[in-house]
Amino acid sequence: MIKRRSVLAALVAAAAGSQLVPRVLAAADAAAVRPIPWRNWSGSQQCLPAARSAPATVAELQELIASAKGTVRAVGAGHSFTPLVPTDGTIVSLSRISGLVSHDSQTRHATLWAGSRLGDIGQPLEDAGQALVNMPDIDEQTLAGCLATATHGTGAGIGCMSTFIEGLQLVDARGDLVDCDANNNPELFQAAKVSLGALGVITQVRLQNVAPYRLRRETVWRSFEEMLELADSMAEQHRNFEFYYIPFSGMGFTDVHDITDEPLGSTEKIDSNESVQDLKLARDWLQGSPKLRELVLSSIVKTLDDEVMVESSWKNYASERNVRFNEMEYHLPRELGLQALREVRTALETQHPEVFFPIEVRFIKGDDIWLSPFHQRDTCSIAVHRYFEEDYKPYFKTIEPIFRKYEGRPHWGKLNTLQREDFRKLYPRWDDFVEVRRTVDPNGRFLNPYLAGLFG
Ligand SMILES: Cc1cc2nc3c(=O)[nH]c(=O)nc-3n(C[C@H](O)[C@H](O)[C@H](O)COP(=O)(O)OP(=O)(O)OC[C@H]3O[C@@H](n4cnc5c(N)ncnc54)[C@H](O)[C@@H]3O)c2cc1C
Repeated sequence: MIKRRSVLAALVAAAAGSQLVPRVLAAADAAAVRPIPWRNWSGSQQCLPAARSAPATVAELQELIASAKGTVRAVGAGHSFTPLVPTDGTIVSLSRISGLVSHDSQTRHATLWAGSRLGDIGQPLEDAGQALVNMPDIDEQTLAGCLATATHGTGAGIGCMSTFIEGLQLVDARGDLVDCDANNNPELFQAAKVSLGALGVITQVRLQNVAPYRLRRETVWRSFEEMLELADSMAEQHRNFEFYYIPFSGMGFTDVHDITDEPLGSTEKIDSNESVQDLKLARDWLQGSPKLRELVLSSIVKTLDDEVMVESSWKNYASERNVRFNEMEYHLPRELGLQALREVRTALETQHPEVFFPIEVRFIKGDDIWLSPFHQRDTCSIAVHRYFEEDYKPYFKTIEPIFRKYEGRPHWGKLNTLQREDFRKLYPRWDDFVEVRRTVDPNGRFLNPYLAGLFG
């Protein structure tokens, strides 16, 4: 069988002709080992904390928080791009306290340790007759990390993950264990559902789940115009709908998930990591000729088959993201999203030939959580990415004003340049959050420099 990769290499080589110049990898960069004790997934954030700790019990965690000198920052899987974790104080991870605590078959509530990774809780929940309502596009993150930043999947009728929370428990700045839900400490509960680790270290969360379900996922290759034409109706028709546009190709694909009782199975799956490397290859060699690049990429896309996969829900949301990147994602009022997307495409393709990562577009239902970027509005989210070894700033600087013009709110975990007053204008309950924060942590023990700039 002819490998798609070789087809691309042949096409690119033919197009590039005699200008084909072998690329020399910056081996020294790739191999450089920096003695930095903490860094995030993409490498955009790093720090040298005085201490790093992973307590084995909640009592140990309480003791740690009560006695730690300086700032305490909780860390999950380090998959946020923004400076939420860096501190010269203490970084605390709950990686040693994870799993399912208890469940209620009647209500389909499950209490989970907040440090659990999403990928580790699907099976125990299924065994308990439950499943998460929705999931993001990877499952490496911790539950607490996801809830802290209003992590979301896609689905016009489904809220972000924080909307699944029924109650939670945290260790506050004094080291006390505090429970909250709609009836018990309701203000703290409202604030804590999306709280950036700024109120305390969350130990357990109680989630409203659903019965286990099977999803049929289907990806279909389409032109940019067709995707835009179909976007609104597909977002309504399918439980989960998103689409990707591949820069300089005029093409992309729609991706839908629907509940099914079809038998498990899958067509041959394209390796998405290999595909991103292909796009980089086309960028490296054809950057100077946008027309040729479009011709090559659209020819390749036309050879690709659509894909179908039927799997248990928790195995059918996530993909592996092995090619690292930095990301900016803004959440826009749903009715403005597609108009903004057109502008983003134009800006990208007229000013940034160096970009090759696809643009991702998703739909999320509005909610009433104080610091949720989906607060009181149904949303269309647009995400742009830049390869992790390349400077993301010029590209993001071009795109961010478009997102802001359309009243976008940035994802809490993804790169942006907004400051306290910008956020304050975007969040009607901002001051309520700040007030609750001040009450539970008057000395700012959970504030690193970034969060002090927002809430201090
Ligand atoms: C490859 C990749 C794919 C992604 N896909 C999606 C996606 O599909 N949808 C989406 O919305 N986002 C996505 N993200 C963003 C990601 O989901 C969020 O940034 C999320 O917060 C990361 O979780 P984490 O466990 O890595 O937490 P971290 O990044 O380590 O921490 C995030 C925040 O959570 C806080 N925190 C962690 N643990 C606790 C705790 N126990 N108590 C209190 N606070 C805590 C931290 O202090 C910090 O403020 C993606 C990121 C990457 C790198």
